[in-house]
Amino acid sequence: MLPMVTPTSEKTQSQRNSKDSLTNFPDQYGHFGEYGGRFVPETLMSALLELEHEYEAARKDPSFRNELASLLQEFAGRPTPLYFAERLTKELGGAKIYLKREDLLHTGAHKINNALGQILLARRMGKTRIIAETGAGQHGVATATAAARFGFQCRIYMGAVDMERQSLNVARMRFLGAEVVGVTAGQATLKEAINEAMRDWVTNVRDTHYILGSALGAHPYPMIVRDFHRIIGDETRRQILQKEERLPDLLVACVGGGSNAIGLFYAFLNDERVRMTGVEAGGDGIIRGRHAARFQGGRLGVLQGTKTWLLSDEDGQIELTHSVSAGLDYAAVGPEHSFLREIGRVDYSYATDVEALAAFHKLSSLEGIIPALETAHAIAEVIKVAPTMTREQLIVVNLSGRGDKDVQQVAELESGKE
Ligand SMILES: *Cc1c(COP(=O)(O)O)cnc(C)c1O
Repeated sequence: MLPMVTPTSEKTQSQRNSKDSLTNFPDQYGHFGEYGGRFVPETLMSALLELEHEYEAARKDPSFRNELASLLQEFAGRPTPLYFAERLTKELGGAKIYLKREDLLHTGAHKINNALGQILLARRMGKTRIIAETGAGQHGVATATAAARFGFQCRIYMGAVDMERQSLNVARMRFLGAEVVGVTAGQATLKEAINEAMRDWVTNVRDTHYILGSALGAHPYPMIVRDFHRIIGDETRRQILQKEERLPDLLVACVGGGSNAIGLFYAFLNDERVRMTGVEAGGDGIIRGRHAARFQGGRLGVLQGTKTWLLSDEDGQIELTHSVSAGLDYAAVGPEHSFLREIGRVDYSYATDVEALAAFHKLSSLEGIIPALETAHAIAEVIKVAPTMTREQLIVVNLSGRGDKDVQQVAELESGKE
């Protein structure tokens, strides 16, 4: 049985073929509908314009594309397999589940796709110093890795709370030669780390490139980060057509800033029959200050350079967020996701900490694959929906990262230490 397709969406499909294509966003000002844009201090404007121009040149330059393609293949390990999760499928008794194995990439998550792309951009711009923010530490590790590979000086900003939750990644970054700077302001997590990185960038913009780690921030970042991750969906499309001779019925990915999700979704946006679900962090449930599900109880606002859905109070103060996974624990979602939700193209749900932990164990014990806690949120959604679908239907879930970094945290949580 195929998923239901209403006549209106059929019509939309044919109307969209040319200029209305969902892959034509953002516009030249970085707008995805009313979302996105460039809300930054004057001092950063020239840096963003420089980045935008360099990126436009680079994307058309065969030598840039070839160098990135070979790095992704030989250094990072692409293409990643599209793997049939046989025992999980059997256990859930519904749709056939495939895992897109981004966890097998060098450094353990999809983040390396973007870090390698941006380091090549930094070199083209003649920069010598790299800065980045990191939440779970995966983006910090990917950036420190790329910086080491190309001989850049590298400083990573990380919330002090996250440094404690993810001490293994802190050690990895330091081995890779990066300086890790703890940020103690506010909630001492990702938002504060981004603030510090932006402050550094304003001061050192001449020799420094800021490698932003998700499909977030001011234009052109959401576009650049998406473009460097779209290879996930491009590969998936080829692989599923080869294995099943048809497109999947449902794509599932967790959504922090939204980079692994848009990376998977992008190649399928104009395929009306392919449904997509982004999964946010439901934390302790949808209680103010206890979750990071921006589309549940959030509102429209501006944070760190972009207009998007975020968690703030009536006065515009950013609310506290909570998630068991540091990589999803952020008050704003990437602007393209706000747009895709508004037009009804992508559905957004959430998984709580408890559901994510159960999914973490289920995938580990059934498939021999320990997922990152972020990724476990996507698995939790699959656990809910796969049994409601038929055995002929296909789900592809983005296995955004491996769980090595989370092993200690989960063990401590479950022995009651936290
Ligand atoms: C960083 C991270 C995420 C969340 O970031 P997105 O930009 O939303 O993809 C998800 N999974 C893993 C494994 C991560 O490291």
